[in-house]
Amino acid sequence: MMTDPRADIRLAQLHLYVDIHLHDRYLAPLLTLVVAAMLTNWVPVSWAAIWAGFELLIIANYIRVYRAFKRSQAGASDEPHWARRIALAHGAHMLAWSSLVFWAWQHDNFASLVFIMLVHIALIALTTSMSNAHLRTLERDMVFPVLALLGLPLLELSWFNIGLSLLGLGFSVLMLLVARQINTYSTEALQLRQRNEILIRELELQASRDALTGLVNRRYFLAEANQQLQAAHRSCHVLALLIIDLDHFKQINDQYGHLAGDEVLGAVVDALKRNLRTGDCLGRLGGEEFALLMPETTQAEATETAERLRQAAAAVPLTLQGQAICQTVSIGIALLQKEDTSLSSLMHRADLAMYAAKTQGRNRVVCELPTPAAEGSSPNAETAPLAV
Ligand code: GH3
Ligand code: MG
Ligand code: MG
Repeated sequence: MMTDPRADIRLAQLHLYVDIHLHDRYLAPLLTLVVAAMLTNWVPVSWAAIWAGFELLIIANYIRVYRAFKRSQAGASDEPHWARRIALAHGAHMLAWSSLVFWAWQHDNFASLVFIMLVHIALIALTTSMSNAHLRTLERDMVFPVLALLGLPLLELSWFNIGLSLLGLGFSVLMLLVARQINTYSTEALQLRQRNEILIRELELQASRDALTGLVNRRYFLAEANQQLQAAHRSCHVLALLIIDLDHFKQINDQYGHLAGDEVLGAVVDALKRNLRTGDCLGRLGGEEFALLMPETTQAEATETAERLRQAAAAVPLTLQGQAICQTVSIGIALLQKEDTSLSSLMHRADLAMYAAKTQGRNRVVCELPTPAAEGSSPNAETAPLAV
């Protein structure tokens, strides 16, 4: 299913936000204790301890939310939900720190004013560097510290304090602009990564698929079949390989043109696809020749499937230049034997069986004849010469 690329980017930004917030996990608890100790200059120890206790609980909560988000494997559509949860959990932390205004500020005490303003300047600078990955959450993070920085000097109105408040405003605007600029760069990097991932996926798909039929191509099929062959040997399971070739296909091209030939090829492959079992792997070996790998399949099951595929191909309703066409296929079957250490000998025998089907008149299924022990048992059985 296609997702909105911008929603994917917003989710990646939220991950980056949480990943960058390392100080939230390791530094914030320590800083809380240091600031609580400094608070005791202005408030009773019990108040400072209550503030620190609340803040530590808030820290534990946002760390829990961060972890839940990282474990959730959230999709792009979940991003607004997680952005809200994270903004709420982290916003409580910003509120707790900004509440220092009420805890530490003393009338006519310049030192307390400077202490609180410095804490908020540091808080805003830290938020700029740590929250810039996700703009909406950054803006929410900034609300309380900026209000505290601007509002605090105004609690005691004087020209000097108005000047301090204006300085705070200038600083806040500057930090917001810096955060936006960094966000632009990190978003570009994320978009580049996203484009690369899409390109790599497309390249992988193109490298493994045949464009005309949508089937896996020869290279992919051989790699997959080799793996299945080794797995079948290890587990002593049966395995069947079918080679399917369109009959007299050249005549279609010669008579109706290459494009009409392509149409026929596509229609026959669609019919084959509709008759596959899950777990079977159909690939285009080249031209009008296909291979079907059937894991855990006995000779009887493979023959039954091959017969179904043969009938399905012949039954495809085709009309070219007003003429009804019947496109048949010839199918050769080989079963895995213990001496098939690689795919080539198995494919060779399936090929021989397919050519036997051609010489016997086409539009038929031929299976190599295994000894009775091979049927329904492990691949460690002897194979008799080809038979029809
Ligand atoms: P046989 O029954 O013996 O297999 O006869 P045939 O005509 O099917 O076999 P032959 O090997 O003589 O011809 C195969 C033809 O398949 C020749 C080639 O032009 C055609 N062919 C291969 N790939 C494509 C393709 O992608 N599109 C089209 N339209 N034709 C293709
Ligand atoms: Mg052919
Ligand atoms: Mg051929």
